[in-house]
Amino acid sequence: MYEVTKFGGEGKRLEDYREIIGDEALETIKEKAENLKGKSFIHVNSTSFGGGVAEILHNLVPLMKDVGIDARWFVIEGTNEFFNVTKSFHNALQGNKELRLTEEMKKLYLETNKKNAEDFDLTPFDYILIHDPQPAPLIEFYEKRQPWIWRCHIDLSDPNMEFWKFLRQFVEKYDRYIFHMEEYVQEDLDREKVVIMPPSIDPLSEKNMELSESEILRTLERFDVDPDRPIITQVARFDPWKGVFDVIDVYRKVKEKIPEVQLLLVGVMAHDDPEGWIYFEKTLRKIGEDYDVKVLTNLTGVHAREVNAFQRASDVILQMSIREGFGLTVTEAMWKEKPVVGRAVGGIKLQIVDGKTGFLVKDVNEAVEKTLYLLEHKDIAQEMGKNAKERVKENFIITKHLERYLDLLNSF
Ligand code: UDP
Repeated sequence: MYEVTKFGGEGKRLEDYREIIGDEALETIKEKAENLKGKSFIHVNSTSFGGGVAEILHNLVPLMKDVGIDARWFVIEGTNEFFNVTKSFHNALQGNKELRLTEEMKKLYLETNKKNAEDFDLTPFDYILIHDPQPAPLIEFYEKRQPWIWRCHIDLSDPNMEFWKFLRQFVEKYDRYIFHMEEYVQEDLDREKVVIMPPSIDPLSEKNMELSESEILRTLERFDVDPDRPIITQVARFDPWKGVFDVIDVYRKVKEKIPEVQLLLVGVMAHDDPEGWIYFEKTLRKIGEDYDVKVLTNLTGVHAREVNAFQRASDVILQMSIREGFGLTVTEAMWKEKPVVGRAVGGIKLQIVDGKTGFLVKDVNEAVEKTLYLLEHKDIAQEMGKNAKERVKENFIITKHLERYLDLLNSF
């Protein structure tokens, strides 16, 4: 296990948000933090880079520190085989019923967690929050002396029960379980311990901060994107659940009507995601030689600021995920006043208000229809974008998230 000591959101201060959220909301947070000053609050997950959890922790941990909490972030370590096993967990829990859990997989999963526990002592800390299934069994290997919280970031609405039953034996030992949405709560869990808490985005992070027009244009130029032609974009890891192939199909059909349209596929390659590389290659092959589709990854210099610029330069944002725990990419786009066309699943459903902040669709054809509609009705697209930003400000902004965590810690 290692500690993350360099944060994307280093030096973040609650005061910086006063202008965005207002005095009252800010004072409420300060009051709620009063009793927790000096308490240690440990986050543990399985990667410090790539994916939504890392994204949130890079900003939330510094903010927790600023309100006086001794917040820290640890990352478990494992071999590629371990991460392949946990990827199977991830896929099975999100609904792949074909996968089987072998004795060998269980053994590697438990041994890796045990080794991480031996590596580092978590017992001196006041509150421990374990993110996702990868480190969930850690609780087995410590003497439990404080509240342990498990947070699930994935879509658990229809899991492969073999995997869930196995995971459940660890989860039930926790004092609280956090889910993004009610529909992810499994029936066999203790209701009293359930907490519903959506994730959030940080409007001041490099990913979401305002950018000058010239920076956006420079970024487009650098990656050979034409600013004068329509742009549709999906930001997502290269992962079968993200529906990237459907996005390409949507684009192709849109292109039949609007030939000058361009598609940006922005996709980070996460370190704990060996399967991603295979899917990445498949994606490139499906695109073939259409150079109006740009594949933009961290491998060629696409980082938070560039993602920000691509989102801001887009006319329509797509999110065609088959399953989506929450979908921070949707939140990020909405914050930038972009209408999002998203498949009506999981957290996408929770965020997009259909017809008001974007569109919820069931398949490729409907996505084509809505995307064309938005490209052809600029004023409506703009209005929806404005509504989208308001919705994020009220529900999915980092300060709200911080406040929800303070409420949780205060509840012990
Ligand atoms: N992300 C990124 N670059 C990419 C793809 C994704 O920075 O090329 C970020 C994205 O902006 C978001 C996070 O990774 O902040 C993905 O979170 P989300 O909840 O959408 O999905 P997850 O990857 O956790 O399934």
